[in-house]
Amino acid sequence: MIRSNFIVFSYTIGDRASVSNQTTISILIHNRYIILSPSIRSFLLQSNNNHILDTPIEFLPGVGPARALTLKNELQIFTFRDLLYQYPFRYIDKTQFHRIVDLTEESGAVQIKGVLRRVEILGEGKAKRLSATLRDESGVIELVWFQSIHWLEKNLFVQKEYVVYGKVSWFNNSPNLSHPEIEMVSAENTALAPTFDPVYPSTERLHQKGMDAKARRKLMRALFEKLRGAAPVDESALNLPENLPDYLTERFRLLKRAEAMLKIHFPTAPEELEAARKRLKFEELFFLQLKLLRYKLRRNEQTRGFVFDQVGDYFNDFYTNHLPFALTGAQKKVIKEIRRDMGAGKQMNRLLQGDVGSGKTIVAFLCMLIAAGNGFQSCLMAPTEILAQQHFISISALAEQIGLTVSLMTGSIKGKKREERLLNLASGAIHILIGTHALIEDEVRFQRLGLAIIDEQHRFGVEQRARLWKKSTPSPPHILVMTATPIPRTLAMTLYGDLEVSVIDELPPGRKEIITTHRNENHRLRVIGFMREEIAKGRQIYVVYPLIEESEKIDLMNLMEGYDSLSRDFPKPDYQISVVHGKMKAADKDFEMQRFIKKETQIMVATTVIEVGVNVPNASVMIVENTNRFGLSQLHQLRGRVGRGADQSFCILMTGFKLSADARERIKTMCATNNGFDIAEADLKLRGPGDLEGRMQSGVLNLHLADLAKDQRILQVARETALEILDADPHLQLPEHRRLLDYLMGMSQNEKTWARIS
Ligand code: ADP
Ligand code: MG
Repeated sequence: MIRSNFIVFSYTIGDRASVSNQTTISILIHNRYIILSPSIRSFLLQSNNNHILDTPIEFLPGVGPARALTLKNELQIFTFRDLLYQYPFRYIDKTQFHRIVDLTEESGAVQIKGVLRRVEILGEGKAKRLSATLRDESGVIELVWFQSIHWLEKNLFVQKEYVVYGKVSWFNNSPNLSHPEIEMVSAENTALAPTFDPVYPSTERLHQKGMDAKARRKLMRALFEKLRGAAPVDESALNLPENLPDYLTERFRLLKRAEAMLKIHFPTAPEELEAARKRLKFEELFFLQLKLLRYKLRRNEQTRGFVFDQVGDYFNDFYTNHLPFALTGAQKKVIKEIRRDMGAGKQMNRLLQGDVGSGKTIVAFLCMLIAAGNGFQSCLMAPTEILAQQHFISISALAEQIGLTVSLMTGSIKGKKREERLLNLASGAIHILIGTHALIEDEVRFQRLGLAIIDEQHRFGVEQRARLWKKSTPSPPHILVMTATPIPRTLAMTLYGDLEVSVIDELPPGRKEIITTHRNENHRLRVIGFMREEIAKGRQIYVVYPLIEESEKIDLMNLMEGYDSLSRDFPKPDYQISVVHGKMKAADKDFEMQRFIKKETQIMVATTVIEVGVNVPNASVMIVENTNRFGLSQLHQLRGRVGRGADQSFCILMTGFKLSADARERIKTMCATNNGFDIAEADLKLRGPGDLEGRMQSGVLNLHLADLAKDQRILQVARETALEILDADPHLQLPEHRRLLDYLMGMSQNEKTWARIS
């Protein structure tokens, strides 16, 4: 064990590893220290290949073992590099202070310099707080903290000068700051002459351990001293090798890497900060694109795919004799793209984007027919049992007409039934397998899997896709990933930058725009009246409640109360109501779903289990309860459950009276547009990419600085540049691309296998 650790360690420190790999690397280093004796440690540290940035953080002056531990635990800072890459999230502009007398309701976040006049603990229990008064030459302002009260009380000193930063609120016509950042004004070391002080992400523990803003700045200075010390002289005399070719930094007028690093931590003017940001953002996005495009290139070069050289009889028969409707132009275009991919001898990795209701299922089915026509099996993997079930029903109905066998595989299919299906799958008797993630279990073996389709992509983790990829030999199956959550262009370019993309940008004809309105409790009676009218017309209605895991019990209660009150408003026997929620057994859920599909019930009360993909064309009203608790894309998904038939459909967003600004914005967006791509853009702007990214598949992007909502232009340029370079020099063998290759090698040292998987 020690041996293998040793190998991993020496291997790791020998490269200029990328930011994205640091945690892993650092943990190894960390563990290493637990295991190794000091002599081996220093031997390792002297290794020539070892860049100074790989040095463990405890070797930085000012960081002892105790502080190192805190930095590791609190901020995942293990090495010099980790410290370097944690950029300030804000800068204290020491030239700009607000005067207290000038503060208004609209001031927002402000920075004030003043003398602390009073510090005392007030109140009891929950109202217990630390209250202080800060005075500048124009007036006084109250500062309040509800946490770390005792620590702050001990560490704040009256009559001393402080800089505070926080959001102004008003109480009885006086301004106050609650939980402001606060720092004593002192004659700090000004070697690097900042007029802007960097402020780093921090935690309460760090503060308690004396690692406040000031201490962090000190560490940064120490780090830059270290980088300066060992440097072969370059422009700013820092040992931070350039990773972009000179022609690129010149073409885009970018700062050199070393200069940018220095200036992002210690800018002396706003323009410097801007220039540093621009350079580092470009670098992040450019290497990400280069990496993704290289995967794609390599995959195309190395992975042979099954060749589906004909559309085959199944396709032709179905297309001429059984197609239930004329395909839209967009559906035809997409099928052509997929056909071309699958016939080309390459392994397809394609993302199919199409708004809810745009008709992806039939596209998937037609592709499966091509696979079958070429003698291959296919599978369709859905994120929930209900959805798998529904796909199974609609696809079996289609497949029956041309004599193909479809089967279902989910977690709840057990025993004999399961064994039988597994046998038929292995023998090739089953042509199309539909299922949940149960599909990827090892015991599910295909005779000859040629096409794997993944519906509603974002519910699947990368590992799951990796396992699917391995289900077929000698080539991996063609892979089609379908998503109904339109992805903003920037996100598609980054998350799926190595996939080909097809878009269904047209809805089947005859669809009416769904009318969306916002209602509150005052409108409840009218909403109920409206529901009755719609039911009288023979329509069906969804009523959806949020379900968020931490408050599951309360949510379930909300749902049951909602159900009870609906049962009073819509009494039996005239009305029938279905309930479906996550706590129910699959069979019960299915039973209720079926009742609704068969129109035996008029109202479906549900949690978000129905969010994805459920198709009941007769349902024309979607009522969302506690709308404020849903995110935009979730709301859009929910709304997509209606408007699937020819009837005018409605979406009613219910809320209480009080709404946050964000919730208001989401509701406004929903009422204003039905276009999924517009909604995705709004979502990206409201929530920030981190959140979206996490929801879709975490860990693919590792952006410290670049913001996919705001930096679309840089991303575009980064991608174009990466494409241009790989076009001219696919293997990065030209001398001017040496730095790129070196840097990428560093990045890829620790890359996981999923990288090769779409
Ligand atoms: P999604 O893209 O959300 O998966 P579906 O494939 O479930 O959408 O299709 C939504 C509905 O539209 C289904 O009832 C389907 O039969 C119908 N549909 C799909 N394509 C067409 C078309 N070209 N013309 C008419 N109806 C269509
Ligand atoms: Mg679908």
